[in-house]
Amino acid sequence: MTHRKPLVSGAAIGFDGQISVYDVRGEANPCYACLFPPEATFEEVRCATMGVFAPLVGIIGTMQAAEALKLLAGVGTSLAGRLQMLDARTMEWNEIRMQRAAACPVCASRR
Ligand SMILES: [Zn+2]
Repeated sequence: MTHRKPLVSGAAIGFDGQISVYDVRGEANPCYACLFPPEATFEEVRCATMGVFAPLVGIIGTMQAAEALKLLAGVGTSLAGRLQMLDARTMEWNEIRMQRAAACPVCASRR
């Protein structure tokens, strides 16, 4: 947040994957803490114990690389403000639009 560098975030566990970009250079874009507040406690789920469908890691990782290269080159529209979720069982994508949290402990004070 301090350095305003975009975060290309990806996750994969079991057959579920997700990817998004947190880019606070855009005034309307949420930061990571808007969705995952640092004080919140999430159930710890690790792929070391839960396992992960191996090709899913490649799918999500390659998309992260694509988003990073787009950001570096200034090409196209990033996933900022959009969380994409993949169910590899059906190979279906769903997208959630994300907004800034008014009470976000990290970015609520910015502009
Ligand atoms: Zn925030």
